[in-house]
Amino acid sequence: MENSTRITRCSVCKSTEHNMRTCPQRIIEDTFVREPEEDPWTVDISSKKERLINDLQDKESYNLDNELFMSWLQLKKPIPLKEIRYTLDKGLLKPSVVLYMNLIKDIDEYY
Ligand SMILES: [Zn+2]
Repeated sequence: MENSTRITRCSVCKSTEHNMRTCPQRIIEDTFVREPEEDPWTVDISSKKERLINDLQDKESYNLDNELFMSWLQLKKPIPLKEIRYTLDKGLLKPSVVLYMNLIKDIDEYY
């Protein structure tokens, strides 16, 4: 009687050598289903986020500060980021660079 109660049959593959929790077939099915969702190294980055990351990389490579980058974005990127670097290298101070970005879209009216 004791023996018969100890025999368990795996409900997945019908083997008597293990039970359902330890069944190798069940483990294979489990990882197949879970892997795409639970992989901790998978991140969902949209193309817009990728573009922001690219712009931030440019900001760093041109050694621009965050305030100028924010102004540049809020002004809807009126000039390439490297042009900001150029104006700074020309000796313009930050307020003048922001003014430059504000004026640039109408430059044909002024010059
Ligand atoms: Zn099994």
